[in-house]
Amino acid sequence: MVKSSVLGYPRIGADREWKKALEAFWSGKLEESEFHSKLKEIRLNHLRKQKEKGVDLISVNDFSYYDHILDTAAMFGIIPKRFSYEGGVVPLPTYYGIARGTKDATASEMTKWFNTNYHYIVPELDGAAPVLTENKPLEAYREAKQELGIEGKPVIVGPLTFLKLSKGYSASETDAWLARLLPLYVQILQELASEGVQWVQIDEPILVTKLNDADLQRLKTIYETFAAAAPSLNIMLQTYFESVESYSDIIALPVNGVGLDFVHGLSGNLASIKAVGFPADKVLGAGVIDGRGIWKAPLREKLALLEELAEIVPADRLIVQSSCSLLHVPVTVTNESKLLPELKNALAFADEKLDELVLLAKAISASGAEFEDALEKCDTALQALKQSGERNRNDIQQAVAAISVLNPGRSLPFAERHIAQQKKWQLPIFPTTTIGSFPQSAEVRKARQQWRKGEWNNEQYANFIREQIDIWIKLQEEIGLDVLVHGEFERTDMVEFFGEKLAGFAFTQYGWVQSYGSRCVKPPIIFGDVAFEEAMTVEETKYAQTKTERPVKGMLTGPITIMNWSFVRDDITREQIAYQLAYALRQEVEALEQAGIGMIQVDEPAVREGLPLKEEDQAEYLAWAVKAFRMTTCTVQDTTQIHTHMCYCEFHDMIDSIEAMDADVISIETSRSHGELIHSFELNTYKLGIGLGVYDIHSPRIPRVEEMTSMIERALRVLDPKLFWINPDCGLKTRGYEETIDSLRNMVEATEIARAKHSLQV
Ligand code: GLN
Ligand code: ZN
Repeated sequence: MVKSSVLGYPRIGADREWKKALEAFWSGKLEESEFHSKLKEIRLNHLRKQKEKGVDLISVNDFSYYDHILDTAAMFGIIPKRFSYEGGVVPLPTYYGIARGTKDATASEMTKWFNTNYHYIVPELDGAAPVLTENKPLEAYREAKQELGIEGKPVIVGPLTFLKLSKGYSASETDAWLARLLPLYVQILQELASEGVQWVQIDEPILVTKLNDADLQRLKTIYETFAAAAPSLNIMLQTYFESVESYSDIIALPVNGVGLDFVHGLSGNLASIKAVGFPADKVLGAGVIDGRGIWKAPLREKLALLEELAEIVPADRLIVQSSCSLLHVPVTVTNESKLLPELKNALAFADEKLDELVLLAKAISASGAEFEDALEKCDTALQALKQSGERNRNDIQQAVAAISVLNPGRSLPFAERHIAQQKKWQLPIFPTTTIGSFPQSAEVRKARQQWRKGEWNNEQYANFIREQIDIWIKLQEEIGLDVLVHGEFERTDMVEFFGEKLAGFAFTQYGWVQSYGSRCVKPPIIFGDVAFEEAMTVEETKYAQTKTERPVKGMLTGPITIMNWSFVRDDITREQIAYQLAYALRQEVEALEQAGIGMIQVDEPAVREGLPLKEEDQAEYLAWAVKAFRMTTCTVQDTTQIHTHMCYCEFHDMIDSIEAMDADVISIETSRSHGELIHSFELNTYKLGIGLGVYDIHSPRIPRVEEMTSMIERALRVLDPKLFWINPDCGLKTRGYEETIDSLRNMVEATEIARAKHSLQV
């Protein structure tokens, strides 16, 4: 009988009860003991659900109080020195302090979990030897067994992945750290074995990235040690998010099962298994149900894939799995009441995926006819969406196909455009600007609520927005900024705002996923052909421009960012989706230009996020991402100045692509990693207009003039003063009113100092 297995279940709850509990605890509204019982209740509910659905191997220890990497570090007593931890089980205030900062100590860094939108807390291996503070997987196993009679499968982050994701040590110390961690892992596994645990899932997603020989040797050491220490325990060595590198080495390890992703790593993993085969003494965890996507699985295709695998691995050694933890999808489709039926019927969130897994596991060992109804129903649902009007907009498909074969670009090269633009705009040296949004005060949020609830009509809301624009245009003039913005008061979220106005998008009511800690996002769903319907930003931008003589910069979110922050359809490629978005946004760019807006910023903060894990796939992605940006912006006049903005610092490896976007001006978030970025410009200077953020908008602190002056001076050592802009490092919507004004005043003062110093030289 083929078994089904889930690699992890979302923590947040169908109604985000987990998030609410965390936040209530943080704000002191929930006592620690009540908090623990609340989380236990949530955790058991999730396990119970999986049991009721009939999942065979249910993960335990996938639950977390914040993040599973932080949990692993805490379990090993790996606490940054600044938190003055004194040993023993890590107290909650320390645990949350590492994640969120305390008044005495800054939080640990947070970063993206592979290529997902989940963020983990980066462990800091800064000295103290690790110790086992508690055996979390064992506790989770016992709880599931005692409370629900579930024979759980503890999940643990593997040592190699844990080490690779940690920082604070040098490459030469890797083996020393491994030697310190291994005995702790061994103790965990031995305790699990003596408890009678059958399967343990050790997650090593790092195995889908390229490993050098030393790492492969470490891998061998790790799993040989485990096999020798706990021979009775079945270890499922679990990988996900891509196909594994070094397949032959991995299947030769002394583990009892290897879990592979047959969704995101389908072609690579399938090719490896066919070419090399699969050892007769191991179980294959076949990740065939997409743990990251929101669509119903085409069950017939999945069965065929499983049958193909069963030719290599006998069915009794196959486990049908989700491709990765279900952490990355919302909890359930059932409560959605506002979606088009053909869309709703084609969706499968976590709970629906449990049903799919169980069904596939049964269907593969049953006679075809038995499950025919279920397969038929699935076909019908997917077919209905495929045939829906939203997916068959011939006008859009033809227009996009026609422009996709062209090589989009501005009519003049940058150097010539720059001259034309200078002549038209007459900007001073070091023009100052902001990134787009101004503080979204309680008043702004309240106004939007009133309008959404129908308490305010469109006219009242529009008037309110206009008043905000008036206030901030005046303020920007007073402060002395050169290029103004309208402030984005009408937008909650930079993707949602456009998604609501473009065709092809849908919004769920409860489709939340965890982004980091208690922060959840509700990504829009791009389910149909994306199309421009009517101007989206022209009214507010044009209005702002009537209030000032200075240029007002229009503000759009770029195609790649909209795509990367949405769930997308999987019947066409991401590249095609990006071009559809680009074509739609280009119509907005043109509408702005027609309305007399001569500077237009197309934000692309999320380009880096879509970068494929496999190095060999990255160039192709970057090429079409750049093309989509150029497609969006290439039709404007030479004198129209295209701006873009990007967040985060890891740009050194993609500066060429950023340059190829050919934006007249880019503003980059850099103040937290200024040194690094400056260094990359030393190696490869940037030849277009550029503003390096001169202060960090993530902190309420008002930057001093001298701090910004020194940032500016450092940047000018490597960047051309004639192309240099001065701006904060990101949008100001999360900041307060007073602090924003004071910070910007200081920024303008720093600019004047720089102008006085450099004007003569330019
Ligand atoms: N224009 C957006 C803003 O100012 C950009 C936000 C971002 O970079 N994430 O808010
Ligand atoms: Zn930003």
